[in-house]
Amino acid sequence: MREIITLECTVCKNRNYTTTINKKKHQEKFEVNKFCKFCRRHTKHREVK
Ligand SMILES: [Zn+2]
Repeated sequence: MREIITLECTVCKNRNYTTTINKKKHQEKFEVNKFCKFCRRHTKHREVK
């Protein structure tokens, strides 16, 4: 079952991306490095509810 999640920049707290993940493969909090246009660099983005 795939679920839509929102990714939030851990530096500036802006919600920059949405993505779908497989909850069975990602039991823990999903984190990924992505480019944040507000920080203007790659930052860690974290799943938010
Ligand atoms: Zn940012």
